[in-house]
Amino acid sequence: MIDTHAHLDMLKSEEDLYESVESLDYIITIGCDKEEIFKAVELSNRFENVYASVGYHPYDINDLTDKDIEILEDLCRKNGKVVAVGETGLDYYRDITPKKLQWEFFEKQLELAKKLKLPVVIHSRSANEDTIKILENHSPFPDSGVLHCFGGDLPMMEKAVEMGFYISFAGNITYPKADNLREVLRKTPLDRLLLETDSPFLSPQKKRGKPNKPSYIFYTAEFVSQFLDIPREELEKITDRNALKLFKKIKKTANV
Ligand SMILES: [Zn+2]
Ligand SMILES: [Zn+2]
Repeated sequence: MIDTHAHLDMLKSEEDLYESVESLDYIITIGCDKEEIFKAVELSNRFENVYASVGYHPYDINDLTDKDIEILEDLCRKNGKVVAVGETGLDYYRDITPKKLQWEFFEKQLELAKKLKLPVVIHSRSANEDTIKILENHSPFPDSGVLHCFGGDLPMMEKAVEMGFYISFAGNITYPKADNLREVLRKTPLDRLLLETDSPFLSPQKKRGKPNKPSYIFYTAEFVSQFLDIPREELEKITDRNALKLFKKIKKTANV
């Protein structure tokens, strides 16, 4: 199975890292600040089945300049295992970075992804309307993208799907209070559905309180398969197929 979104550089130990790499077919590790983008690429070069997505998280943009966008472009072009741009997006949950700056660097990274013909990994928290508005302004996205760790409502999901995006659910879909999110999951077209851990954050309910790791994706998959009443093997096939369709460079490099 594929974990489409993990922060491998933040795992607690080398042991967790090796366990993760061994227990999954592929992992996309995310680098989302000035230093992490290099760590993500390094990890993808170290492990055959690890790929990287690189970008700047909306909380890590305060001291960015256009030079950093150039650095990002260069990193993407020079590394065959970079399969996407991001995570980038909007986050109004905590007041860490000004909204205007968030919009600016979100838009710049959307355009960069399009220029590089790569999918974009989108982070949106407490900013659903603005996220959709900006995506609509920059649409179409021929190489698509994913709304990772989806936390929006039904209209947001529908608008994103209409624009060709994938919807990725993380461990929080298993939480007892996530009824509304599960209703969105139920209506998400199966050919747009992805799963992720967002490790080390958001451990699924069965491991809640512990740092998350990619191998815990199986708890989320089990939960979703029961909720949607689809056998787990079939669900994994569906989400893996979607992941390989979206992150096309995985197939190219891995020859599967
Ligand atoms: Zn995120
Ligand atoms: Zn993340």
